[in-house]
Amino acid sequence: MSSRGRTPLYGGVRESSTLYHHAMVNHSNIEGACRFTGGTQQIADALAAKIREHGGTMLVRSRVVALHTEGRRITGVELADGRMLRAKTVISAIHPAETFRLIGPTPVIRKAFRERIGSLPDSYGLFSAYLLLKPGRIPYINRNLYYFAGKDVWKTLFDLEAMRPGMVLLSAQAPDGDPAWCDVVTLMTPVATRPWKAWEGSAPGRRPEAYTALKAAMTQATVDFACARLPELRDAIAHTYAATPLTYRHYTGAPHGAAYGLLKDWRSIMASHIPARTKFDNLLLTGQNLTVHGAIGVTLSAAATCSEIVGTEYLAKKIANA
Ligand SMILES: Cc1cc2nc3c(=O)[nH]c(=O)nc-3n(C[C@H](O)[C@H](O)[C@H](O)COP(=O)(O)OP(=O)(O)OC[C@H]3O[C@@H](n4cnc5c(N)ncnc54)[C@H](O)[C@@H]3O)c2cc1C
Repeated sequence: MSSRGRTPLYGGVRESSTLYHHAMVNHSNIEGACRFTGGTQQIADALAAKIREHGGTMLVRSRVVALHTEGRRITGVELADGRMLRAKTVISAIHPAETFRLIGPTPVIRKAFRERIGSLPDSYGLFSAYLLLKPGRIPYINRNLYYFAGKDVWKTLFDLEAMRPGMVLLSAQAPDGDPAWCDVVTLMTPVATRPWKAWEGSAPGRRPEAYTALKAAMTQATVDFACARLPELRDAIAHTYAATPLTYRHYTGAPHGAAYGLLKDWRSIMASHIPARTKFDNLLLTGQNLTVHGAIGVTLSAAATCSEIVGTEYLAKKIANA
């Protein structure tokens, strides 16, 4: 964003931070998506380095199995290996229905609230085919390509009966090798999460045959769909790896593998509005379910959550002066 655009946004603090949110989202949508040369792992590494620099510790492969409470306070975060963590403030970045499930029965959360959160619809899932390409076959495509099955651009879900995508996003990864040529291309297509529920009890690598057969058929259909529009792709493919909503569910814990968390409806914003603050004095929420999904969405959520701790005015000034 240009500095010319930033100055007036921070004129008044509370209103301006909302304006800044809109500006960031609009800017991204108008200018189009960006890619990271060298991959997105560098963001995680940079954040991890910052956390360590400030004395923080990161525990990976540490599943939270329960949040213990006493009155309006979270008194312990229990991990699957039995360890109990205690903290002044607990921030949960997972789906809110999951967070409240981890808390279990308590008079602090009303039944009506639990039911409302539990009944909010989630977004669709994504099916992805990652294509490793032979070197020097497809010139690097420095933009995302959206291929639609028909004229109705809102009809994007994969039709499992006809075995046909409604829409495929083709996105080339910024090349690791020669910048002139694509080395990895991702094909992504929206798919309903419901059909995958039957296999939720299985683990990756040990899924039933019906699942692997569906995955193989969808991979073929998605690749065919893209190749019909970019014919030179077919002979360029060296290896294909596919991921379903269940794959993403395994890694993110998102209910049923919904790609973007809770569904947001612009006609009824408040119905899916989840505030960062909860009924517990020391429990805050963050992540894609609060505002919008994606890298920008979670950054906005993080700002909303942090402002609950350090204050909106302080945070807005800090960001403005960064
Ligand atoms: C296939 C796909 C492609 C996407 N592409 C893009 C893109 O190009 N650009 C973009 O901006 N966005 C993209 N998104 C959306 C983006 O990934 C999400 O909006 C974003 O990652 C959400 O961040 P989050 O922090 O809210 O949740 P997550 O990234 O899901 O993080 C939640 C974390 O909590 C952990 N967790 C869950 N339960 C527990 C538990 N009980 N104990 C401990 N840890 C737990 C999970 O393992 C996970 O690490 C894509 C999503 C998908 C599925």
